[in-house]
Amino acid sequence: MDARPIERADVDLLVVGGGATGVAAACTAARAGLKVLLIERHGFCGGGAVAGLSGTICGLYEADAEPRTPRKLVHGFVDEFIAQLEQRGGLTPPLLYGKTYTRVHEPLAWRDSADALLAQAGVRVLFHALCIEVHRTGDLIGGAIVWTKSGRLDVRARLTIDASGDADVLAMAGLQTGCGADGVVQNPTMIFRLQGVDIPRFLAAHGQDTIMPAAVSALIVGAQQAGQNLPRSKIWLFPTTRPGELLCNCTRIRAADGRELNVVVADDFSEAEVQGRLQVRAYAQFFRQQLAGCEASWINDTGVQVGVRQTRQGAGVAMLRNADVVAGRKFSDGVARSPWPIELHAGERPRVEWLLNDYYEVPYGCFVPERGEGLLFGGRCLSAEHEAVASARVTAQCFSYGQALGVAAAMAAREGLQPRELPGRSVRDALNRQGARLDD
Ligand SMILES: Cc1cc2nc3c(=O)[nH]c(=O)nc-3n(C[C@H](O)[C@H](O)[C@H](O)COP(=O)(O)OP(=O)(O)OC[C@H]3O[C@@H](n4cnc5c(N)ncnc54)[C@H](O)[C@@H]3O)c2cc1C
Repeated sequence: MDARPIERADVDLLVVGGGATGVAAACTAARAGLKVLLIERHGFCGGGAVAGLSGTICGLYEADAEPRTPRKLVHGFVDEFIAQLEQRGGLTPPLLYGKTYTRVHEPLAWRDSADALLAQAGVRVLFHALCIEVHRTGDLIGGAIVWTKSGRLDVRARLTIDASGDADVLAMAGLQTGCGADGVVQNPTMIFRLQGVDIPRFLAAHGQDTIMPAAVSALIVGAQQAGQNLPRSKIWLFPTTRPGELLCNCTRIRAADGRELNVVVADDFSEAEVQGRLQVRAYAQFFRQQLAGCEASWINDTGVQVGVRQTRQGAGVAMLRNADVVAGRKFSDGVARSPWPIELHAGERPRVEWLLNDYYEVPYGCFVPERGEGLLFGGRCLSAEHEAVASARVTAQCFSYGQALGVAAAMAAREGLQPRELPGRSVRDALNRQGARLDD
């Protein structure tokens, strides 16, 4: 039982989750005049980018066989967020990542930037608030029950956006979701930051590319064969905005018995945290022993939680196909664009398939549930095939999806329509008026 009284909140829009998607959606809708409540289970926004320490804003730049200068293709809310990070000294210049570029952000600056933008937009934010039930009457979603430290909060909302990353709202409402390739999702990674690194010496030895060269992979394979707990040999190490620091994206988490983990299974989520910590220790020790520049390094911190790449995907009225990504397909109702490669973390080595000098678009229908009214969803849980998710899930695109969701919510509220009744082309046009430059 819970004897405490249930509080009630009436809003135009409930946003569940404060990752890149939720922040962009909430700010955009509130600026358009909606009364917005954003709930987030952690004590800060940022989701995978901050709690998971994913560390970089991928998906901004065109890829090229011979990348010489960064060419930015994605615009809109993400630019405002970048400006906030830059003001706080929390974003590196573009760093080489294979055939493209990425920018490393400082997670504390990410939290502050989100706080500032949400406050300016007039969004009510509840941290440490977990969505535990959904109001569903027939096919209409009318808000949710939220657990907070003061008890349960009954949120009544005209519209709800599922920006939980895990499609929690859809799953709670009994709406259709899918999970990876026949239930097998991309593996989690525990990211950590290594301090005390001699960065000039490190760069002189291993080069400017943040994807480590084959020589480093060969050293890892040698150490694996000698029995060290280093299951991933293709690794990414990023210098950050802080002196002497590398952000380390190198672990590949699976169960102690070798089984692949799916973190929407409660036991798997817990095991991922434990195995993640063990691997972080093993990689940090290997770096100290084997990588020039890391001899005196130590672990500064890990993500607050293991980094989750993929769980449930919502079933939308449209689905982003693997072929759309590979072919750089454009849609008349495309509401976001992405030049990011397919970056699939499955098996022994991550697989990267580049989209050179091109980009694809994501149609509006990928965010509208096949069934269910008063509801939109998006972010990494968008409606997409398994490999397509491995491209479409990165941060710059999640900002774009969030902005599109916020625009759609505002249009639906203003016109008294259900999200599925909105022409995607109108959402695209409205995004262009807000600087998304989708027709450039
Ligand atoms: C290991 C790893 C490395 C990555 N590296 C990069 C990278 O270098 N660059 C890049 O651009 N992207 C990277 N990504 C991808 C990127 O971080 C995520 O895809 C992106 O953060 C997804 O944003 P989102 O808003 O969809 O979801 P999330 O960031 O997952 O945010 C969802 C939010 O919802 C909250 N939430 C969930 N359920 C509930 C609930 N029931 N009630 C209340 N709140 C809830 C969560 O706490 C979270 O804050 C990486 C991801 C991982 C896991």
